Amino acid sequence: MIPSLSPESLEAWLLWQHQLQPFTFDENFAEEINSSISEGITKVFNKLECSSVSVAPVAKNVEEPVDKSLSPLERVRARAERCSACRLAAKRTNMVFGEGNPEADIMFIGEGPGEDEDLSGRPFVGKAGQLLTKIIENGMKIPRSQVYIANIVKCRPPANRDPMPDEAQCCIGFLKEQIKIVSPKVMILLGKVAMKNLLGIESSMSKAREMTYEYEGIKVFVTYHPSALLRNEAYKRPVWEDIKKAMKYLGMM
Ligand code: SF4
Repeated sequence: MIPSLSPESLEAWLLWQHQLQPFTFDENFAEEINSSISEGITKVFNKLECSSVSVAPVAKNVEEPVDKSLSPLERVRARAERCSACRLAAKRTNMVFGEGNPEADIMFIGEGPGEDEDLSGRPFVGKAGQLLTKIIENGMKIPRSQVYIANIVKCRPPANRDPMPDEAQCCIGFLKEQIKIVSPKVMILLGKVAMKNLLGIESSMSKAREMTYEYEGIKVFVTYHPSALLRNEAYKRPVWEDIKKAMKYLGMM
Protein backbone atom coordinates (compact mmCIF):
# COMPACT_ATOMS: atom_id res chain seq x y z
CA MET A 1 0.00 0.00 0.00
CA ILE A 2 1.12 3.55 -0.61
CA PRO A 3 2.06 5.20 2.70
CA SER A 4 0.27 8.27 3.95
CA LEU A 5 2.82 11.04 3.40
CA SER A 6 2.92 14.67 2.37
CA PRO A 7 2.63 15.14 -1.43
CA GLU A 8 6.38 15.90 -1.67
CA SER A 9 7.49 12.87 0.35
CA LEU A 10 4.97 10.67 -1.41
CA GLU A 11 6.25 11.79 -4.80
CA ALA A 12 9.86 11.01 -3.81
CA TRP A 13 8.88 7.67 -2.27
CA LEU A 14 6.84 6.64 -5.27
CA LEU A 15 9.55 7.62 -7.76
CA TRP A 16 12.14 5.68 -5.85
CA GLN A 17 9.93 2.61 -5.50
CA HIS A 18 9.28 2.79 -9.21
CA GLN A 19 13.02 2.79 -9.86
CA LEU A 20 13.57 -0.21 -7.61
CA GLN A 21 10.85 -2.16 -9.29
CA PRO A 22 8.68 -0.53 -11.94
CA PHE A 23 5.06 -0.97 -10.98
CA THR A 24 1.61 -0.24 -12.15
CA PHE A 25 -1.50 0.69 -10.21
CA ASP A 26 -5.06 -0.47 -10.47
CA GLU A 27 -6.60 -0.27 -13.91
CA ASN A 28 -8.04 3.19 -13.50
CA PHE A 29 -4.74 4.70 -12.52
CA ALA A 30 -2.25 2.78 -14.66
CA GLU A 31 -2.49 4.90 -17.78
CA GLU A 32 -2.56 8.16 -15.90
CA ILE A 33 0.44 7.23 -13.76
CA ASN A 34 2.53 6.14 -16.70
CA SER A 35 2.11 9.52 -18.34
CA SER A 36 2.42 11.36 -15.03
CA ILE A 37 5.87 9.89 -14.39
CA SER A 38 7.02 12.13 -17.19
CA GLU A 39 4.42 14.92 -17.09
CA GLY A 40 1.82 16.16 -14.61
CA ILE A 41 3.26 14.19 -11.72
CA THR A 42 2.23 16.35 -8.77
CA LYS A 43 -1.40 16.32 -9.81
CA VAL A 44 -1.50 12.54 -9.87
CA PHE A 45 0.41 12.08 -6.65
CA ASN A 46 -2.01 14.42 -4.93
CA LYS A 47 -4.79 12.17 -6.12
CA LEU A 48 -3.00 9.08 -4.93
CA GLU A 49 -2.61 10.45 -1.46
CA CYS A 50 -6.38 10.45 -1.13
CA SER A 51 -6.76 6.92 -2.43
CA SER A 52 -5.70 3.54 -1.19
CA VAL A 53 -4.16 1.88 -4.19
CA SER A 54 -2.20 -1.32 -4.06
CA VAL A 55 1.15 -1.43 -5.77
CA ALA A 56 1.31 -4.32 -8.17
CA PRO A 57 4.50 -5.20 -10.04
CA VAL A 58 4.40 -5.06 -13.82
CA ALA A 59 4.47 -8.63 -15.08
CA LYS A 60 7.78 -8.36 -16.95
CA ASN A 61 9.51 -7.19 -13.79
CA VAL A 62 8.03 -9.63 -11.30
CA GLU A 63 11.00 -11.98 -11.43
CA GLU A 64 13.85 -10.02 -9.95
CA PRO A 65 16.05 -12.43 -8.03
CA VAL A 66 19.14 -10.87 -6.53
CA ASP A 67 22.23 -12.29 -8.20
CA LYS A 68 24.58 -12.75 -5.27
CA SER A 69 27.58 -13.09 -7.59
CA LEU A 70 27.22 -9.40 -8.54
CA SER A 71 29.12 -6.67 -6.71
CA PRO A 72 27.06 -3.95 -4.99
CA LEU A 73 27.71 -1.57 -7.91
CA GLU A 74 26.78 -4.24 -10.45
CA ARG A 75 23.50 -4.80 -8.65
CA VAL A 76 22.63 -1.11 -8.89
CA ARG A 77 23.69 -1.18 -12.52
CA ALA A 78 21.42 -4.16 -13.22
CA ARG A 79 18.45 -2.20 -11.85
CA ALA A 80 19.38 0.88 -13.90
CA GLU A 81 19.59 -1.29 -17.06
CA ARG A 82 15.91 -2.19 -16.59
CA CYS A 83 14.80 1.28 -15.51
CA SER A 84 12.12 3.08 -17.47
CA ALA A 85 11.10 5.49 -14.76
CA CYS A 86 11.40 8.65 -16.85
CA ARG A 87 10.91 9.74 -20.46
CA LEU A 88 14.63 9.42 -21.25
CA ALA A 89 14.33 5.61 -21.36
CA ALA A 90 12.34 5.76 -24.59
CA LYS A 91 15.14 6.92 -26.86
CA ARG A 92 18.28 5.59 -25.23
CA THR A 93 20.60 3.24 -27.08
CA ASN A 94 22.42 2.35 -23.88
CA MET A 95 21.99 3.24 -20.26
CA VAL A 96 25.25 4.89 -19.19
CA PHE A 97 25.81 3.84 -15.61
CA GLY A 98 29.31 5.11 -14.86
CA GLU A 99 32.71 3.49 -14.66
CA GLY A 100 35.99 3.44 -12.83
CA ASN A 101 37.57 2.20 -9.66
CA PRO A 102 34.83 1.06 -7.24
CA GLU A 103 37.12 2.17 -4.40
CA ALA A 104 38.19 5.47 -5.95
CA ASP A 105 39.26 8.42 -3.81
CA ILE A 106 38.00 10.81 -6.48
CA MET A 107 34.61 10.79 -8.14
CA PHE A 108 33.74 13.07 -11.07
CA ILE A 109 30.07 13.75 -11.64
CA GLY A 110 28.67 15.29 -14.81
CA GLU A 111 25.12 15.87 -15.98
CA GLY A 112 24.18 13.15 -18.49
CA PRO A 113 25.30 11.10 -21.49
CA GLY A 114 25.74 12.69 -24.91
CA GLU A 115 25.60 10.95 -28.28
CA ASP A 116 28.97 9.18 -28.02
CA GLU A 117 28.18 7.99 -24.51
CA ASP A 118 24.71 6.81 -25.52
CA LEU A 119 26.21 4.78 -28.36
CA SER A 120 29.05 3.30 -26.33
CA GLY A 121 27.35 2.93 -22.94
CA ARG A 122 30.36 4.63 -21.30
CA PRO A 123 30.52 8.05 -19.60
CA PHE A 124 32.64 10.91 -20.89
CA VAL A 125 34.03 9.36 -24.09
CA GLY A 126 33.18 12.12 -26.58
CA LYS A 127 35.20 15.32 -27.05
CA ALA A 128 34.37 16.61 -23.59
CA GLY A 129 35.23 13.20 -22.17
CA GLN A 130 38.57 13.15 -23.91
CA LEU A 131 39.30 16.52 -22.36
CA LEU A 132 38.35 15.19 -18.93
CA THR A 133 40.66 12.23 -19.50
CA LYS A 134 43.49 14.66 -20.33
CA ILE A 135 42.80 16.61 -17.14
CA ILE A 136 42.96 13.39 -15.13
CA GLU A 137 45.92 11.74 -16.85
CA ASN A 138 48.08 14.70 -17.94
CA GLY A 139 47.09 17.15 -15.22
CA MET A 140 46.48 15.01 -12.17
CA LYS A 141 48.96 12.36 -13.37
CA ILE A 142 46.77 9.41 -12.53
CA PRO A 143 45.16 6.87 -14.86
CA ARG A 144 41.50 7.52 -15.64
CA SER A 145 40.75 4.00 -14.39
CA GLN A 146 41.80 5.11 -10.91
CA VAL A 147 38.86 7.54 -10.51
CA TYR A 148 35.12 6.90 -10.74
CA ILE A 149 33.02 8.82 -13.29
CA ALA A 150 29.22 9.08 -13.33
CA ASN A 151 26.40 11.41 -14.27
CA ILE A 152 23.23 12.79 -12.72
CA VAL A 153 21.04 11.00 -15.30
CA LYS A 154 21.89 7.66 -16.89
CA CYS A 155 20.10 8.05 -20.21
CA ARG A 156 20.77 10.62 -22.91
CA PRO A 157 18.56 13.73 -22.95
CA PRO A 158 17.49 14.46 -26.56
CA ALA A 159 19.75 16.81 -28.52
CA ASN A 160 22.09 16.98 -25.54
CA ARG A 161 19.78 19.32 -23.63
CA ASP A 162 20.13 19.56 -19.85
CA PRO A 163 18.19 16.91 -17.93
CA MET A 164 14.83 18.27 -16.76
CA PRO A 165 14.28 18.55 -13.00
CA ASP A 166 11.86 15.62 -12.89
CA GLU A 167 14.26 13.43 -14.89
CA ALA A 168 17.10 14.28 -12.52
CA GLN A 169 14.90 13.68 -9.50
CA CYS A 170 13.82 10.37 -10.94
CA CYS A 171 17.35 9.16 -11.63
CA ILE A 172 19.45 10.57 -8.83
CA GLY A 173 18.76 7.66 -6.50
CA PHE A 174 21.09 5.52 -8.63
CA LEU A 175 23.88 8.07 -8.31
CA LYS A 176 23.36 8.35 -4.56
CA GLU A 177 23.76 4.59 -4.30
CA GLN A 178 26.94 4.75 -6.41
CA ILE A 179 28.36 7.46 -4.15
CA LYS A 180 27.54 5.45 -1.06
CA ILE A 181 29.20 2.31 -2.43
CA VAL A 182 32.31 4.01 -3.87
CA SER A 183 32.54 6.30 -0.86
CA PRO A 184 35.16 8.64 -2.36
CA LYS A 185 37.19 11.13 -0.34
CA VAL A 186 36.48 13.87 -2.85
CA MET A 187 33.78 14.56 -5.42
CA ILE A 188 34.32 17.02 -8.27
CA LEU A 189 31.03 18.19 -9.74
CA LEU A 190 31.28 19.17 -13.39
CA GLY A 191 28.82 21.92 -14.26
CA LYS A 192 25.68 23.48 -12.91
CA VAL A 193 23.36 20.49 -13.37
CA ALA A 194 25.46 18.32 -11.06
CA MET A 195 25.85 21.20 -8.60
CA LYS A 196 22.13 21.91 -8.50
CA ASN A 197 21.01 18.33 -8.13
CA LEU A 198 23.53 17.16 -5.55
CA LEU A 199 24.06 20.33 -3.53
CA GLY A 200 20.90 22.30 -4.31
CA ILE A 201 23.02 25.28 -5.44
CA GLU A 202 21.79 27.38 -8.34
CA SER A 203 24.27 30.26 -8.37
CA SER A 204 26.67 30.95 -11.22
CA MET A 205 29.66 28.64 -11.47
CA SER A 206 32.05 31.57 -11.09
CA LYS A 207 30.53 32.29 -7.68
CA ALA A 208 29.97 28.69 -6.60
CA ARG A 209 33.56 27.62 -7.25
CA GLU A 210 34.81 30.11 -4.66
CA MET A 211 33.68 27.67 -1.99
CA THR A 212 34.00 24.00 -1.14
CA TYR A 213 31.09 21.89 0.02
CA GLU A 214 30.24 18.67 1.78
CA TYR A 215 27.89 15.90 0.74
CA GLU A 216 27.24 13.14 3.29
CA GLY A 217 30.65 13.78 4.85
CA ILE A 218 32.46 13.84 1.46
CA LYS A 219 34.40 16.94 0.44
CA VAL A 220 32.94 18.44 -2.75
CA PHE A 221 34.54 20.79 -5.27
CA VAL A 222 32.66 22.32 -8.20
CA THR A 223 34.01 23.42 -11.55
CA TYR A 224 33.00 24.01 -15.16
CA HIS A 225 31.88 21.09 -17.30
CA PRO A 226 34.53 20.06 -19.87
CA SER A 227 32.08 20.91 -22.68
CA ALA A 228 32.07 24.53 -21.44
CA LEU A 229 35.84 24.39 -21.63
CA LEU A 230 35.62 23.26 -25.25
CA ARG A 231 33.43 26.25 -26.03
CA ASN A 232 35.50 28.77 -24.09
CA GLU A 233 39.20 28.37 -23.48
CA ALA A 234 39.07 31.06 -20.80
CA TYR A 235 37.69 28.41 -18.42
CA LYS A 236 40.91 26.42 -18.66
CA ARG A 237 42.67 28.26 -15.86
CA PRO A 238 39.77 28.20 -13.33
CA VAL A 239 39.18 24.51 -14.00
CA TRP A 240 42.82 23.71 -13.35
CA GLU A 241 42.72 25.83 -10.16
CA ASP A 242 39.70 23.83 -8.97
CA ILE A 243 41.35 20.53 -9.78
CA LYS A 244 44.46 21.61 -7.89
CA LYS A 245 42.32 22.46 -4.83
CA ALA A 246 41.03 18.88 -4.83
CA MET A 247 44.53 17.48 -5.33
CA LYS A 248 45.86 19.56 -2.44
CA TYR A 249 43.04 18.35 -0.23
CA LEU A 250 44.04 14.77 -1.07
CA GLY A 251 47.76 15.46 -0.52
CA MET A 252 48.54 14.82 -4.20
CA MET A 253 50.61 18.00 -4.50
S1 SF4 B 1 17.44 8.53 -16.90
FE1 SF4 B 1 17.53 7.33 -15.01
S2 SF4 B 1 15.42 7.35 -14.23
FE2 SF4 B 1 15.35 7.93 -16.42
S3 SF4 B 1 15.03 5.99 -17.47
FE3 SF4 B 1 17.23 6.35 -17.45
S4 SF4 B 1 17.94 5.23 -15.65
FE4 SF4 B 1 15.73 5.46 -15.42
